[in-house]
Amino acid sequence: MHTTPGLQSVHSAQLFLPHTEPPAPARTIEVAPGILWARLTLPFRLDHVNIYFIDDGDGWTLIDTGLGSKTTQAAWQSLFDGLLRERPLTRILVTHFHPDHVGSAGFLLQRFDVPLYMSATEYLQSLNIHLNPGALEAEHYRLFYLEHGLDAETTQRVVTSGHAYLKLTSGLPPVFHRLIAGDVLRIGAREFDVLTGGGHSPEQIMLFSRADRLFLAADQVLAKISPNVSVSAIDPEGNPLGYYLRSLDALKQGIPADVLVLPGHNLPFYGMHTRIDELVAHHRARCDRILQACRSVPRSAAELVPFVFTLNLDPHQMGFAFSEVLAHVNYMLRQGELKPTASTDGIRRVVAKP
Ligand SMILES: [Zn+2]
Ligand SMILES: [Zn+2]
Repeated sequence: MHTTPGLQSVHSAQLFLPHTEPPAPARTIEVAPGILWARLTLPFRLDHVNIYFIDDGDGWTLIDTGLGSKTTQAAWQSLFDGLLRERPLTRILVTHFHPDHVGSAGFLLQRFDVPLYMSATEYLQSLNIHLNPGALEAEHYRLFYLEHGLDAETTQRVVTSGHAYLKLTSGLPPVFHRLIAGDVLRIGAREFDVLTGGGHSPEQIMLFSRADRLFLAADQVLAKISPNVSVSAIDPEGNPLGYYLRSLDALKQGIPADVLVLPGHNLPFYGMHTRIDELVAHHRARCDRILQACRSVPRSAAELVPFVFTLNLDPHQMGFAFSEVLAHVNYMLRQGELKPTASTDGIRRVVAKP
């Protein structure tokens, strides 16, 4: 969920993977002293999400919760009966608002009376969808997609995604504990620096233990796939790819190269700086394809999709692909690589600057 369709990013041979297999369902692997890794399944092409339990003295601080689905809740039941029977959750930290991360928070908070830690933007983004799941269906949002050349079927699917979100999540508590970049979060005997990054989601939380050389990267840096970076109709001229590249640069400057990365998907790995270089190159290659396609012919974001995603996309994937291509277009407009062209049919198109 919320990762690029086609999963075109290549797996780096230069990363070191301390575990070549994920934990079995409802089981955990200790990835560092007092830090357990578990997996929950997702009913998508990306079929899993990673969650972590961090030793917090009397219990565990949970990082992310999985989807708010019956399957995930059955998996949680096994964890209640096993790992959590003697040592319950002490708090729940959700890295970002995507349903594969926040989805079971409401379900878990019915069982454990513990605080929910999130960044303000991610909490409010999720709450906003819960309060008004049909908001994107307004005419000006619909027009935004149509003006960028998206077909009517995909537009309909994208503007109704708030209702899909509600089906994949189990609600939020009325209060939360705000995390903000620069905070130091003590969990058990460890201190974690709190970092945030944009691009994949507005204010995604990441945790860094300098003493133990551990980095909980959420979806910002993944070993195998490239996290989805999408323009939202609410911020139509937004530059999420610019924010994402800025965040990757900050991570490379601020986090040592030898950390063990504990990500939201794929396997834990060493080699974060190498992986960041690959992700930057991956986006540059996509920009170059767009530049090539717009060299002499003006094209809309929707018309550019087949130049970037060569696989056949189903309507669900098409929405993500379109929003991702638009993120590249908006970035390239800011960089001065593309310029808008005059249109006679109401569709917004761009062309390469000479
Ligand atoms: Zn995500
Ligand atoms: Zn995710």
